[in-house]
Amino acid sequence: MKMILLGPPGAGKGTQAKMLTEAFGIPQISTGDMLRAAIRAGSELGRQAKVNIDVGHLVPDNVVVRLVEERTLQPDCARGYMLDGFPRTVAQADTLAAMLLRRGERLDHVICLEVPSEVLVVRLSGRRTCRQCAASFHLEFNKPQTAGVCDKCGGELYQRADDREDAIRARLVTYAKDTAPLIDYYRKLNVLRTIDGQGDLRTIYARIERAIA
Ligand code: ADP
Ligand code: ADP
Ligand code: ZN
Repeated sequence: MKMILLGPPGAGKGTQAKMLTEAFGIPQISTGDMLRAAIRAGSELGRQAKVNIDVGHLVPDNVVVRLVEERTLQPDCARGYMLDGFPRTVAQADTLAAMLLRRGERLDHVICLEVPSEVLVVRLSGRRTCRQCAASFHLEFNKPQTAGVCDKCGGELYQRADDREDAIRARLVTYAKDTAPLIDYYRKLNVLRTIDGQGDLRTIYARIERAIA
């Protein structure tokens, strides 16, 4: 199964992707997590990405496209994968379509999580992310059992540089301009399901499960 989780920053893509991939036995491919890993590794790609990420701009299409092309060729992707945070532009979606066509594959589902902007700001400003496994928590809505420590792996929780007020605003503008057009793009291809992204984690999970059944 190949599916895309679409939605603005803070919609809950990463949270739901982690729950779904565990259940479906396919990997989560998060371009954001991959780019942050490159930054930590201190690679040239990481240095280029950081400049854009920290101010809430997108990383150039060719950079993320290359990451996804390579990642999806790994053996663990043979039974499918879940794309989280990719594609983010129409150009990326076109490249993905061409890649799938070339490989004789197709997209099964595109799920778009809908959450109003004012809620996104509250979610993102209270988000804490695990340095080790990239799981996200929230200071109020999804508290870790021990403050500052990841429930899943014991890793340290930190606040992403782009989860501060000014970068959050910039990311929401970027989303509206560059990524929101993908909703119509996939609607026209008849693969889009929009899901109400508000409610507790299990409720949203059940909505997605129903949409892809
Ligand atoms: P995305 O990957 O779309 O940016 P995340 O999954 O990281 O979003 O979630 C953003 C923030 O909102 C995190 O702090 C997360 O714990 C929290 N969150 C996720 N789902 C919900 C929900 N259903 N209700 C409240 N908060 C949520
Ligand atoms: P969020 O959880 O807020 O949706 P991500 O972790 O997916 O954020 O992405 C963080 C940042 O990484 C983005 O603001 C952007 O700068 C960069 N990024 C991630 N995925 C892409 C992509 N597909 N295209 C361009 N930039 C990306
Ligand atoms: Zn962790």
